[in-house]
Amino acid sequence: MKQEKAIVVFSGGQDSTTCLFWAMERFHTVEAVTFQYGQRHKQELDCAADIARELSIKHHVLDMSLLGQLTPNALTRDEIAIEVKPDGPPSTFVDGRNLLFLSFAAVLAKQIGARHIITGVCETDFSGYPDCRDVFVKSLNVTLNLSMDYPFVIETPLMWLNKEETWELADQLGALEFVRTKTLTCYNGIPADGCGECPACQLRRRGLDAYLAAKEGSEQS
Ligand SMILES: [Zn+2]
Repeated sequence: MKQEKAIVVFSGGQDSTTCLFWAMERFHTVEAVTFQYGQRHKQELDCAADIARELSIKHHVLDMSLLGQLTPNALTRDEIAIEVKPDGPPSTFVDGRNLLFLSFAAVLAKQIGARHIITGVCETDFSGYPDCRDVFVKSLNVTLNLSMDYPFVIETPLMWLNKEETWELADQLGALEFVRTKTLTCYNGIPADGCGECPACQLRRRGLDAYLAAKEGSEQS
């Protein structure tokens, strides 16, 4: 029997869309929440809305544009280039972003009667975001439960998966083609396989190629 109600922190990208399918398999009712914070590309929001509509998922969009006031960074300001620095977080970093998103998601979750909050954060491809680490998520879970006197459970199905394993999970959920063709990960705002050049596209592509090669290998043997 499927468990109660869940809300998925949802961007329309590969990871959170995989989480959406993961949640739909487990929970009786699934809703999604997307944070609007001056993303570089409106396509990202359109993509999230399209996916939610196609999957008949109730979609909440929350305005978090104040993030742009707090931190000038590459995801929210067009004039700042995305770069990967050898040490420290990439220029896409917004301090405390995940802390804020999960906290707002929890307030919404309680309102709609959802105990389970699903997020696609991942420690494996750790890119310097301290609030994506497992220890942080566990700590915040305790804090949220105390702050609202409510038994939230934050679920992180991708926490220990690399990109290859995330594709494998999508495949197990019967969603490989869906995730591959309908999600947007690319920093240049191009859905599906994207521009192929930006760091997000390269990471996504490497994972997909590795997964498809491994799958082919195991089918032949
Ligand atoms: Zn790209």
